[in-house]
Amino acid sequence: MLLFFNYRGDMYTLLNGKELSKTVKQEIAKEVAQIIDSGKRAPALAVILVGEDPASKVYVRNKLKATKVTGMISHEYRLPADTTEEKLISTIDFLNKDEEVDGILLQLPLPKHLNPDNILHHIAPEKDVDGFTPISAGRFYTGLSSLRPCTPLGIMEFFKAYNIELEGKNAVVLGRSNIVGKPVANMLLEKNATVTICHSRTKNIKEVTSNADILILAIGRPEMIDETWVKEGAVVIDVGINYSEDGRLCGDADFDKVAPKCSAITPVPKGVGPMTIAMLMKNCLTAYKNRMK
Ligand code: NDP
Repeated sequence: MLLFFNYRGDMYTLLNGKELSKTVKQEIAKEVAQIIDSGKRAPALAVILVGEDPASKVYVRNKLKATKVTGMISHEYRLPADTTEEKLISTIDFLNKDEEVDGILLQLPLPKHLNPDNILHHIAPEKDVDGFTPISAGRFYTGLSSLRPCTPLGIMEFFKAYNIELEGKNAVVLGRSNIVGKPVANMLLEKNATVTICHSRTKNIKEVTSNADILILAIGRPEMIDETWVKEGAVVIDVGINYSEDGRLCGDADFDKVAPKCSAITPVPKGVGPMTIAMLMKNCLTAYKNRMK
């Protein structure tokens, strides 16, 4: 565990997503190796990328790399940017029926003419490794077992690995998207935190955040959050992946200002991002095990 000192000599913990994700992937790799040793097929992930979005290409490359590291099989489907809704849905249907595929990931965002709401629900829930389909979400929010969204799962893994207590804590989530804000709020609620969700219309937002024991930042605003938003000793999880005006990769927090006030904080990069991919691998392994039952 890495400890740093702030200007008063107090320590804070750097929540190291790169290291933690390595550990998670090693555990997955061990399990996959046992599966292969027992003569069975390795878990298989199919990744669909539509178009040429440069950030999406990087994300897909990293996800495919993680399948290699964990010993899983990957299938890559690259479709041109002008792919029709019909064609994309037929690709998903084909993968739904393929017994050799355990997880299906449709990389978002899609080109503008394709509406993810019309498409995602075609992914079979048992292969929905992103946890984005309405059936997976419905099961999750009603407390039933399901594949759950990877970024919130990765965030919860930090709390577990670093022994950060959540019960009775005041948790504030900035952002209410279906892929980060809402599901992480629900997971925190399941752990008996008292949860507040803030968004762009929240009034007196700093008053809310400065009372948070646990502060999750998922707004996509480069370095908008400085120390005046944060309670002394808070745990800050920065989900944001942004670029600053001078082209640096950065989070939603102004790290140098916020970190000294925290008891623990995730950096950007090497924080939540690698954990998202590790949890995708975990979901793929879970999907495989569920299907083999
Ligand atoms: P969305 O754009 O879907 O949602 C952003 C949310 O932030 C909205 O709820 C919006 O409010 C709220 N918001 C925006 N500006 C403000 C503001 N000034 N004050 C308060 N709330 C605000 O983003 P995502 O949830 O998809 O992603 C959020 C960030 O996390 C992005 O930087 C994204 O790149 C990153 N990300 C990182 C991942 C990782 O693995 N590390 C994975 C997924 C996302 P409203 O609803 O009112 O518009």
